[in-house]
Amino acid sequence: MTSRSADVRINDFYEIIERADPYVLMEQGARCMDCGVPFCQSETGCPIDNLIPEWNDMVFHGNWEAAYHRLAKTNNFPEFTGRVCPAPCEGACCLGVTEPPVTIKSIECNIIDRGFEEGWASPSPPAERTGMKVAVIGSGPAGLAAADQLNKAGHQVTVYERDDRIGGLLMYGIPNMKLDKKIVQRRVDLLAVEGVQFVTNAHVGVNVDIHEISDENDALLLACGATTPRDLPVPGRELNGVHFAMAFLHQNTKSLLDSNLEDGNYISAKDKNVIVIGGGDTGTDCLGTSMRHGCKSLVNFELLPVPPVHRADDNPWPQWPRIFRIDYGHEEAADKFGKDPREFGILTKEFVDDGNGNVKAVRTVQVDWQKDDTGRFQMTEVPGSEREFPADLVTLAMGFLGPEDTLAEKLGIKRDTRSNYKAEFGRFATSCEGVFAAGDCRRGQSLVVWAIAEGRGAARCIDTYLMGNSDLPAPRMQTGQMSSAG
Ligand SMILES: Cc1cc2nc3c(=O)[nH]c(=O)nc-3n(C[C@H](O)[C@H](O)[C@H](O)COP(=O)(O)OP(=O)(O)OC[C@H]3O[C@@H](n4cnc5c(N)ncnc54)[C@H](O)[C@@H]3O)c2cc1C
Ligand code: SF4
Repeated sequence: MTSRSADVRINDFYEIIERADPYVLMEQGARCMDCGVPFCQSETGCPIDNLIPEWNDMVFHGNWEAAYHRLAKTNNFPEFTGRVCPAPCEGACCLGVTEPPVTIKSIECNIIDRGFEEGWASPSPPAERTGMKVAVIGSGPAGLAAADQLNKAGHQVTVYERDDRIGGLLMYGIPNMKLDKKIVQRRVDLLAVEGVQFVTNAHVGVNVDIHEISDENDALLLACGATTPRDLPVPGRELNGVHFAMAFLHQNTKSLLDSNLEDGNYISAKDKNVIVIGGGDTGTDCLGTSMRHGCKSLVNFELLPVPPVHRADDNPWPQWPRIFRIDYGHEEAADKFGKDPREFGILTKEFVDDGNGNVKAVRTVQVDWQKDDTGRFQMTEVPGSEREFPADLVTLAMGFLGPEDTLAEKLGIKRDTRSNYKAEFGRFATSCEGVFAAGDCRRGQSLVVWAIAEGRGAARCIDTYLMGNSDLPAPRMQTGQMSSAG
C-alpha cells in the first residue's frame, strides 16, 4: 500500500494510506514461498498466529472470500492490525533474508477491507447462550478481542469504558490519519449487533462500583491498559506548555470527532515551536498531529543513539529488525522543514521559563552510549555539548509505567515488579478468584496485535473457568520479541 504525499496529507486528518491495486497484492501473494517453516507466523513472527502463507496463496489465486474466512479464524480485528501493526511477520519473512519481504500487512488490510465491502464480515451472533455473564473493564483491543471471543462462546459480555467512546487507544491514542475512527466504530457496531453490551462514561472504581460489577457477573476481565505515563522530573516541568503526549493526542481526536476541531477543546501546536520528547509510535503521532495543526518548527528528542541502517550482527533474521526507520511523522516534518526532526542521543536537562510561567526553551546535553565491563550499555553526558532549543509546546512521549492503582487496590490484586497486574501469560488469572487480566495492564505497554493475542488467550481461560473446558483457540505460549510501542 502506498501513502498520500506528505505535502498533501498534512492538511487534513484523513487516513494516510491509499487503497492498493489488487493485482499488485496478488503478485505479492505469489511471491510467498509457502516455506516449510513459515517464520512469519511462528515464534518471532505474528503473535496471533495468522495463517499467512495460506491466505497469501488464496489472494494470489483471487479467492479473496476464502482468504477473509481464513484470516478471521485467527484475527478478530485485521482492519486495525492491517493499518497499525509494525508487522513482525514481515521482519521474519524468509524472503527478507535476501530481498524485500512479502507485503503481508498490506494484504491483510485489503482482505478485511474487502470483507466489509462485500458483506463477508457480517454479524454472526452465537446460536445459544450459556447464561454466564462476564464484565470486561476497558475497551481497547485486548478488551474487545476478549469480548468478541467470549460472546462467540455464548456468554453475555458487558464492556465498561470510562471514555465517551469505545476503543481504548484505537480510538483516543492512535490518531485518525493512521486509523480512521469510523473503522473502529464499524467494528464496535458489529460487536454490539452480535450481542456485546457497551457502557461508556463508566469509570470503574470511581463512578461505577467494582464490587457491584463483580457480584453481578460470573467472571471479570481487567483490560484497562498501561495508562500511567512516564514523567520527566527536571527543573521547569511545571511550566505551562509542557504536556503528556496522551493529553495532546486524546484531546485532539475527541475535538476532531466532536466538532472537526471547531470547539477549540484541544492543545494546539499552531504557529508554535514544538518539541516532542521520546521516539516510538506515541512520539511519531505527536509529530504528525503537530504538523496538521501547522506548527512553526518541530524537533523530536531521542535518548538512544541513531539505529543502524541494516541489521546489526546481534539482531539477525528472523528477529524484528532494529534499524533506522522513517515513519510518517518524520517524513512529513522533513518534507516541510527540510530535515528529519529527530535528534538522537540527547538528554533533556531543563525547561526554561519565559518569566510568565510558560515554557520558552528546552536545555539539553548530548549523551554517549558505551558498553561497560558487564556488556550493558551505559550513558555518559558529553562535556560542552549543552544546547538550547526554542519551545512553546513540549509533549512527553516517553512510555508508560503500567496500569493505574485504583482497581488493583480495590480488588486487592497483586502486582508484578513493573507494577502490572500479576497474571501468568497463558493463564491470565490474577491473585483474585474469578478476576483475569489481559493486554497492556498485564504485559506492560506493547502493541495492538499483542493486545488481541492476550484478549483471545484470556477469553479461552475465562471460558474454561466458567464451563470446565473451552473450544476457543489457545494462545501461543511465548513471551514475545517485541514489547514496546511508545
Ligand atoms: C499514542 C499511541 C500510539 C500507538 N500506536 C501503535 C501502533 O501504531 N501500533 C501498535 O501496534 N500499537 C500502538 N500503540 C500501542 C497500542 O495502542 C496498545 O498496546 C494497545 O492499545 C493496548 O491495548 P489494551 O486493550 O491493553 O489497552 P488500551 O488500548 O490502553 O485500552 C484500555 C482502556 O481501558 C480504559 N480504562 C482504564 N481504566 C478504566 C477503568 N477503571 N474503568 C473503565 N475503563 C478503564 C481506558 O480508558 C482505555 O480505553 C500505541 C500506543 C499509544 C499510546
Ligand atoms: S497482525 Fe501484524 S504480525 Fe500478524 S500478520 Fe498482521 S501485520 Fe503481520
